[in-house]
Amino acid sequence: MPSIFIEDNPLYHNKVKWVMQIISQYAHTTYEYVLDKNQSNISVGSSTAYDIKIDDSFFEKLKNERTKWKEILPDGPIYKNECGEESLLETIFYLVNCIQEMNPDPEDIDHYGRFKYSASLQFHYGIIEENFVGHLIDQLILQFPILSLDGNLPQVKSKFYISHDIDILLSGWKIEGYLALKQFKWGLLLKVIWDTIRRKPFYNNIDQVIELDKKNGITPCFYWLASHGKDPNGIMNADYTIEDLNIQCQKVKSHGFESGIHKSSFETTFHQEIAHFPFKVEHNRYHFLKFQTHSAWKEIEAAGLKTDASLGFAEHIGFRNSYGLPFVPFDVENDRPYSFVEIPLHVMDVTLMQYMGLNAETADKRLRMFTEKNKNQCILSVLWHNNSFSNYQKDLNTLFEGYVNCFKVQDLYNLGVNKIFEDHQINDIQNRVTEKRI
Ligand SMILES: [Zn+2]
Repeated sequence: MPSIFIEDNPLYHNKVKWVMQIISQYAHTTYEYVLDKNQSNISVGSSTAYDIKIDDSFFEKLKNERTKWKEILPDGPIYKNECGEESLLETIFYLVNCIQEMNPDPEDIDHYGRFKYSASLQFHYGIIEENFVGHLIDQLILQFPILSLDGNLPQVKSKFYISHDIDILLSGWKIEGYLALKQFKWGLLLKVIWDTIRRKPFYNNIDQVIELDKKNGITPCFYWLASHGKDPNGIMNADYTIEDLNIQCQKVKSHGFESGIHKSSFETTFHQEIAHFPFKVEHNRYHFLKFQTHSAWKEIEAAGLKTDASLGFAEHIGFRNSYGLPFVPFDVENDRPYSFVEIPLHVMDVTLMQYMGLNAETADKRLRMFTEKNKNQCILSVLWHNNSFSNYQKDLNTLFEGYVNCFKVQDLYNLGVNKIFEDHQINDIQNRVTEKRI
C-alpha cells in the first residue's frame, strides 16, 4: 500500500487528502497517510522539497471566494501555478467539486435559477463529453505508478445506472394531444381523443416501465414528487396525489426496486416533503434539475439522505463536473467531506431532443459515441421519464431500448442506487480526511 505524506497546512491539508481519496477510488486501491515525510512513497507540500508541489495561492483564492473559472482556468481546463506548471491536484479539486458554480454572476443563472451550461468551463473548452478528471488522474499515475494497484493505468469497464423521474401519471392526454396537433399527426390526434373518451391511462404506465426494466435486467430507482401543481416560475410539479404516490411506490417496492424523492421546484424543504412518503427516503433527484449545487449539497446533507443524482446539465449530455464516477463532495465551508454520495447525471431523455435538438437517429448515434468514448472508468447515469415510454410518440421508447442494448453489447453492467452508495464508503472518506494529524 503506498504511503503518502501531506504537509500539515490547514489551508489545504484536508482538501489534498480528499483528492488523494478520489484518486484511490478511481485506481481501486487504498493509501496510507503517514506523518513522517521520510517514511512516505510520495510527499505533497508547498515547496520543491516535495514530490508533488502544491500551489498555496490556488487555495488562498478559493478562501477569498475568487472561484470563477475565468480567473482560475483562464487558458485551458488545467490550473497552472505562477511558474506556468500544471497543478493537477488543484485542478481535480476544482472540477469535481463544481467550484465554478460557487459565486455565480446573475447572467450565469437561467430563468429557473439553474447554472447555465453556456456559462460553464465545460462549454467554453469543449470538454463536456470527456471524463477529463479521469485523464488527469491517469497523467498522475503515469508520473507516480505507485498510485495505482499494479503500476498500470486502471481500465475497469464502465457500468450504468438507470432511473425514472415520475412527473406525470394522469394528464398525459393533454401532452399527447398537443404534440399530435403540433406535428399535424391527425390520425394520432383522433386516437388521443378516442382514448381520452374511453378514459384510457396515458402515462399511468409504471407496470409497463417495471416490466421493461425487468426484461433488460435493470435495477432502477424511481424518483417521486410529493408536491402538486405549478410553481410561481410556471414549472409543473406532480399531476398525481399523495395517495397515487403511495400505491405506485408499493408496486415498485414489490418488484424489489428502489424509490426516492424527486424534490419539487417549490420552496418547501426536504423535511416537509419527505413527511408525505410512505417509506424512509434516502435518495433524491431535483425536479427540473432546479438546484444550485452548493446550497443543494447543504440541503441534502441536512435532510440525512444517502445519495443525490441531480448533477447534470439539462441542456447537454455529459459530465457537469468533468468526472465519470460518483463521489462524496467536499464541504469547503467546514473543511470536510459531506455525508452523502453524489451520483452525477449524464444522459437525460429530454436533453437529447428538446435541448440539443437531435432526432431519434442522431440521438442514437450520439449516445453510442458518448458511451464508446467513456466505456472505461465511469458509472454512466441515465434518466428516462415514465412518459417517454408512451405508446404514442415511440421515438424515445425505441431510443431507450437501443441504448440499453448498446450497454449490453459493450458488456457494461447495471448498478442499483444502494450498491453505488455502498461502493463509495462515506465513513471511510470522512474519517480518513479529517483524522487527527498529530
Ligand atoms: Zn421531474
